[in-house]
Amino acid sequence: MSPRIPATLIAGDGIGPEIVDATVAVLDALGAPFDWDRQIAGLEGVRIANDPLPELTLESIRRTRLALKGPLETPSGAGYRSSNVRLREAFQLYANVRPARTLIPGGRYENVDLVVVRENLEGLYIGHEHYIPIDGDPHAVAMASGVNTRKGSRRILEYAFEYAIAAGRRKVTIVHKANIMKALTGIFLETGQQLWEEKYKDHIALDTVIIDACAMKLVLNPQQFDVLVTTNLFGDILSDLVAGLVGGLGMAPGANIGADAAIFEAVHGSAPDIAGKGIANPTAILLAAALMLDHVGRHDLGDRLRRAIDETLNLDKVRTGDLGGSANTKQFTQALIARV
Ligand code: NAD
Repeated sequence: MSPRIPATLIAGDGIGPEIVDATVAVLDALGAPFDWDRQIAGLEGVRIANDPLPELTLESIRRTRLALKGPLETPSGAGYRSSNVRLREAFQLYANVRPARTLIPGGRYENVDLVVVRENLEGLYIGHEHYIPIDGDPHAVAMASGVNTRKGSRRILEYAFEYAIAAGRRKVTIVHKANIMKALTGIFLETGQQLWEEKYKDHIALDTVIIDACAMKLVLNPQQFDVLVTTNLFGDILSDLVAGLVGGLGMAPGANIGADAAIFEAVHGSAPDIAGKGIANPTAILLAAALMLDHVGRHDLGDRLRRAIDETLNLDKVRTGDLGGSANTKQFTQALIARV
């Protein structure tokens, strides 16, 4: 028997418990090696521990260094800070990896298979913002500053090159805006080019593209891309764009990788509009679980899970309502279990 691997499991809010239960059932059927330590966060954390990210949950992840997480609700405006952002900071989850692959042929784009690697801790996204009051208007001027460091850029670029090579990919594209934001995104581009010259040029091809052109090229011909690596804010936008190329958020998994831990989740949120109805599509978090299997070196099981999802969707044609099918979460899960 393969060694058991301790991992933290957070069901999350809204549809979280439904899709996480489905995932655990499929992973059990697959013989995945995880020993789950169930912890709470989000609204349940607030209800039970008066904290959306209770200390016991953080302690568990510190111990296991590995977590599968359902979506967590973040109130807009007032309320508590995003637990997702707190997790990123607490475990220095510097790489956000979002693969996008066509799973259901016949949509707008065929044969899309690309990965966005987003820097997760620096840049304009982290919100160093303030207002300057003038003439009695407290919000007369709004200012934001972004911080990208050589060290942070090198860390994510190195991750992207290593990931691409290990996954047998052919090309890494650095996405930037160094023509205009010469310092803030110039440092990222320059660091990437130097790193490639230094360490990677004999192993993988490098390409660079400006973010606006990249958005257009992705829509015109996404197949020209392979692994894209970019700064935080551009990555935030591009990764939803590429999810849209392959059928939307219900199919998009994400991995947050850091030096101290790795946390796997669906890209979508808690879908309060369908929570509790038993109709949610668990595919995105199942694909995240496949990434988690890859992460612990069980590519064999990750591949089996991805193949079973493919077969359930395309050979059995069992699909949930968001994909135009009539299966509920349980029926989809049962069909998938029969395939793993
Ligand atoms: P959402 O992704 O929850 O939902 C958007 C739409 O997609 C809804 O109509 C929903 O029903 C549908 N949908 C999403 N996932 C689905 C699935 N698996 N199966 C079928 N349909 C699905 O986005 P939202 O409504 O903007 O956000 C709701 C809450 O989730 C907010 O509090 C937000 O902060 C939070 N959120 C959390 C995360 C996370 O934990 N990583 C990510 C995004 C949003």
